[in-house]
Amino acid sequence: MSTPSLENLIARLNRLPGIGIKTAQRLAYHILTLPEEEAEGLSSAIITAKKAIKYCPVCGNFTEEELCSICADPKRDKSVICVVRDARDVSYMERMREYRGGYHVLGGTLSPMDGVGPDDIRIAELLERVKKGEVREVILATNPDVEGEATAAYIAGKLKPMGVRTTRIAHGIPIGGNLEYVDEITLYKAIENRREV
Ligand SMILES: [Zn+2]
Repeated sequence: MSTPSLENLIARLNRLPGIGIKTAQRLAYHILTLPEEEAEGLSSAIITAKKAIKYCPVCGNFTEEELCSICADPKRDKSVICVVRDARDVSYMERMREYRGGYHVLGGTLSPMDGVGPDDIRIAELLERVKKGEVREVILATNPDVEGEATAAYIAGKLKPMGVRTTRIAHGIPIGGNLEYVDEITLYKAIENRREV
């Protein structure tokens, strides 16, 4: 029933994260039923996004302009920098609508097993920003997993001699969570960051 171009489409969809072979087949068959202009729109949306989106030279966030919308916003407090793993994390943080500072996107986390060292992620760029003297606090918001914790600890060690306030986001027990099912890192962090009630 299959043809070379259909096989190719399925194989390419299957390479996307979270798309198994069954889903890839379903999407491919769906795409074949689309009117031609819909299919053109889908493929050109991929190419347009890929060509137009670059990284903000200041923070590493996605942008289509000179600076990203956060760095370009005069109302954002540039003296606070929230350090995250990738540009997606910026949009997760922004969903909170509470944070009014800036960001620094590392583009990964330290992972000796995968050969990712300090020079492979944007740590030097962060230290440069802090050196300029306009930053009063750096919030380390890498994920609370082994690599995220190691990355936060490494950066905190680099920032300490620079005299800038450095904080780590608190990771609590999820609402509805049960201590029995919370991993030790979460539990440790929850205890460590306990506050008066
Ligand atoms: Zn930016």
